[in-house]
Amino acid sequence: MKAIVIGGGVIGAAVAYRLSEAGAKVVLAEAGRIAEGTSLTSFAWVSACEKIDSDSYYRLSLAGVAAHRELVSEFGERGTWYRRPGVIQWLEAGYEGLSLSKGPHEQKLTRLRALGYPAEAIGADELRRLEPGLRPDALSPDGVAIHYPEDGYVEAPIMIATLIEAAVKCFNLDLRIHTPVRRLLVSSGKATGVETVSGEILAADAVVNCAGRWANDVVGSADVAIPLAPTQGLIAYTPALGTAIHRVLRSPTVNVRSDGGGRLLLRANDLDETLSVQDKAQPDHPAARELARRLGELVPSLRGVEAEAVRMAIRPIPQGGLPCVGSIPGLGNYWVAVTHGGINTSAFIGLALRDEILHGRPAPEYSPFRPDRFFKAAA
Ligand SMILES: Cc1cc2nc3c(=O)[nH]c(=O)nc-3n(C[C@H](O)[C@H](O)[C@H](O)COP(=O)(O)OP(=O)(O)OC[C@H]3O[C@@H](n4cnc5c(N)ncnc54)[C@H](O)[C@@H]3O)c2cc1C
Repeated sequence: MKAIVIGGGVIGAAVAYRLSEAGAKVVLAEAGRIAEGTSLTSFAWVSACEKIDSDSYYRLSLAGVAAHRELVSEFGERGTWYRRPGVIQWLEAGYEGLSLSKGPHEQKLTRLRALGYPAEAIGADELRRLEPGLRPDALSPDGVAIHYPEDGYVEAPIMIATLIEAAVKCFNLDLRIHTPVRRLLVSSGKATGVETVSGEILAADAVVNCAGRWANDVVGSADVAIPLAPTQGLIAYTPALGTAIHRVLRSPTVNVRSDGGGRLLLRANDLDETLSVQDKAQPDHPAARELARRLGELVPSLRGVEAEAVRMAIRPIPQGGLPCVGSIPGLGNYWVAVTHGGINTSAFIGLALRDEILHGRPAPEYSPFRPDRFFKAAA
């Protein structure tokens, strides 16, 4: 089996790794360098606790978390990219992007407990004990936050680099960087490969489109385009700081987590809504300055710290907000994986598409989230 995976983000890396590990001859075609797309600019929270209003999305998200644990354990001491310091979410905090869990917070805790999800309510004293660097009244005396002691995040560039390096070294992955794909090649209702921008034809028995927000640009035909509803996000990075923030913080004003080396990564949903595509990703961007100001309010010793770097990215969100992973009706040998929350589910998508492509066994977790929903009328 010869497969082409388009896109060297977190999803393309996971799919290329699992397919080549299972014996497929895989070419990974990436337009630029690997890990340069949306996966580079992500809060990268890995959890299932935001999807509890939908049984199927919760089940999928749990599978995503479990697959990350499995993947890092397979890499032993080189599996360093999945960090689980715990997450603290203030009850007043906004939810991540397209969370389905927007009911009253008491309901959220009750439901999490019923599901057996590791989560506990904490008050102001416990918050001060867990995170002594925060403003003493970061939570009001009668306030409540949820502590997810087992949640964490993925350092996506490290995950991508480690998977691709292992696949190249151990399973002969053919990595083609600076190889943008121009279009999908189709014959008798089946994908037969791709043509690159330089005109090279790469033939394959399976083509997997993992180009994220660019997924429709690489196919060269509106017939197989996935309707997308992308949104823009900004992340600001502090310089290396000597301040200990131990966990991932999802406060009402700013989300904070370590970015390694003493740096902190900052973002906020309300500030993302102020962005425009013309904006330049610079440390003096008003949203970055505001994020730094909010950090100083939350952590008094960091007042006056400014953003050292800023990145902006477009979220690859299918219309309706739900994941879109699987084959397209009427087109054989072609699969697509485009989803928000793609860090969360990336390791699982690698397993799911491997089993579907090589063994004809689609993952039941993806049954409600397949591309057919966009193509029913045409099929
Ligand atoms: C601000 C922000 C916060 C987020 N927070 C979270 C979170 O907390 N948890 C979570 O799970 N998700 C989060 N996400 C979403 C998550 O980051 C994405 O869903 C995920 O990174 C998508 O990965 P991908 O591999 O599909 O896309 P990408 O990482 O964008 O990879 C696609 C690749 O395709 C390549 N490509 C493009 N065109 C071509 C071409 N013509 N030929 C070949 N290659 C091509 C690109 O160069 C790129 O490397 C967040 C996103 C943003 C922006």
